[in-house]
Order: sequence, then structure tokens, then C-alpha cells
Amino acid sequence: MNAKFIVGIDLGGTNLKIAILDLKYNILEKKVLNTKKYGKKEHLILAIINSITSFFKNNNLKKKDILGIGIGLPGPVDNKRGIVHFLPNVPGWRKVYLKKVLEHKLNLPVFLDNDAKLMTIAEYKLGKAKGFKNVLCLTLGTGVGSGVILNRKLYRGEDNASGEIGHMPINERGERCNCGGIACLEAYIGNNKILREARQLFKRNISLEELSAKAFEHNKLALNIWQKVGRRLGTALVGVVNLLNLDAVVIGGGVANAGTILLDKVKETVNRQSMRVQARRVKIFKARLGNDAGLIGAAILVKEQKLE
Ligand SMILES: [Zn+2]
Repeated sequence: MNAKFIVGIDLGGTNLKIAILDLKYNILEKKVLNTKKYGKKEHLILAIINSITSFFKNNNLKKKDILGIGIGLPGPVDNKRGIVHFLPNVPGWRKVYLKKVLEHKLNLPVFLDNDAKLMTIAEYKLGKAKGFKNVLCLTLGTGVGSGVILNRKLYRGEDNASGEIGHMPINERGERCNCGGIACLEAYIGNNKILREARQLFKRNISLEELSAKAFEHNKLALNIWQKVGRRLGTALVGVVNLLNLDAVVIGGGVANAGTILLDKVKETVNRQSMRVQARRVKIFKARLGNDAGLIGAAILVKEQKLE
């Protein structure tokens, strides 16, 4: 095998990240595009193809230098057949044969999986979840996803659709979610909800970065928002921790940048409300690989599939 590089792609509701990685998962070049700017699915797929082609051209790479292309997508994915079932936060994606389309256009092997599962694999192999046996890895962003490691193996479920913690209802009644459900966790702690609540409190538009910075400056309104997010997330985790008796929970994604403020509230809630045995066992960490976890997971996916 002579290929030396992998293309990793992380498609999120806000950003589309495309990178070239080496076989040790170092990111050599990365491009970040705005997902919302593309609107239609066809335009987004074309942007992916064009970005990859220009990467190859700029770095003078040939097809034979590339082991394959790995893609993480924010929703349920048929990883075996390479079909995207549905993306709650990216309009127009329903039953898309993405593997087939990209392999046809790029003439390279393409592998798909759910983005939270890829982040989980990355944190488990190289990050904070390493060495633990039963772990939940969460990614907080526009969407709220997770991956579950049980007995040191990723738990996929019957249709590879496990881990949709963002669509676990935390109330009997409440807001209608993009997935069609009611009172889903994501509708309470997803980026859109946080930004909406922040706008109401501050009486102006405020970014998540500013909201985090303000909390670190002890701004009461900002602290209030992050603590509320922490309590809501903690409440959902109490159920998971009681159910699965995990040894670790790893929290990543953009919102995790609120850092200790958010994390402390999550820990406090889990410690106070979970059953004693489970609460004593579980450790809660911030993810190590940060925003690149999805890209690294996508590269791991390619390498592992190719070597199987
Ligand atoms: Zn939902």
C-alpha cells in the first residue's frame, strides 16, 4: 500500500470541514466552509467535490496517494451501504446515496458514518475516552449527538442509528424538534436555543464565543445561561448514567468551549441526582481533540475499513 494520505470531511449544521490527513491522523491542510451558504444538497456535494479536487491540485497529489475519503454526517447514516437517511439540521437531505455519488465523481473509495460516532471513535483511540470501558461521548453544537462505547466497542444499534441523545425527550410536553419529536434535549441545549435565550437576555445578537468570554468575566447573565445548559444536559445524563453505569462521559463540540463553567454544572447535577453507585463510578471530562475530532474520526474510519 503506497497511499500516504486520507481525506477527512466533517459536515455539520453550521460548518463543512474538509482536510487532508496523514496516516498518523495529523491534519496537514484544512478548509472550513459555511454549510448554510450552500442551501441545496446538490450545491453542498459540489462544494465537497471541488474542495477535494483543489486540494489535490494545490498539493500535487495523485489518486494513488490517497487511501480514501471519510465523511461524518450529523444524522443517521447507513454506514454499510453509504446512504444518508436524514439530517435533522441540514435541509433537503433524505435518503442520499452519497457514497455512490462521490465514488463515481472522484474515483476513490468513500466511507460514511454518523459524525458523533466518528468523534467517539477519535476520542476513544486518541483522546480523553482512551482506556475506559463504557463511555458516552457527546458532541454539542447546532445538533446534539453522541456515541456509546460498551465493553470497549462502539455500540451501533440495529440500524447504526444509536446514540441520538439529542433526541431523547426531557419533558412530556414542549417544543417541536427538527426530528419530528417533542421536547428533545437538542431543542433545549442546541446552539440555536442557547443563542435565542442569549438574545432575549442581552437584548441583542450575541455569539457563542462572546457568551463564553462573558461567562469567564463573571457576567451574571452569561453565567446564568451556561449554568442552565449544564443543568439541562446534566439531567439528561443522569438518565444515561443510571441506565448504563458508565465509567466515563466525554463532552465535546463548540459549546464545550464554555469549559469548566458548563462542565462543573453538569458534574454537580450528575453527582447530585444519579444513583449512588453509578454517580461514584462515572468521570466527566471535556473532549481532548476539540473541533478536529470529527475529521480525525473520519480518517480513522477510512484506515480501519481499508485494512479490514
Ligand atoms: Zn428531536
